Amino acid sequence: MGKTYIKNYMEDIVWELLPDILNRFPECCNCEICRHDIVAKALNDLPPKYVARHKGEVYTKVAELTQQFRTDVYSALTKAILVVSQNPNH
Ligand SMILES: [Zn+2]
Repeated sequence: MGKTYIKNYMEDIVWELLPDILNRFPECCNCEICRHDIVAKALNDLPPKYVARHKGEVYTKVAELTQQFRTDVYSALTKAILVVSQNPNH
């Protein structure tokens, strides 16, 4: 039970690239709340990438993504960081 499920793979990518981008914005709050707000905003700007996943399978790593794909995620995250750092939700 529960060995196969649908996942928005974009979510993993955004979480994985987030620390890289946050490093460039030392003035942006890095707390749990802001990080979730940033990821949610970035995901709203990016097309979802649904995949069927099966427990135990090996998946594409972020390192294997194309440069264009990476650039799109970086720019969505940068935009989200600017919005959240100006209006932190706390
Ligand atoms: Zn915060």
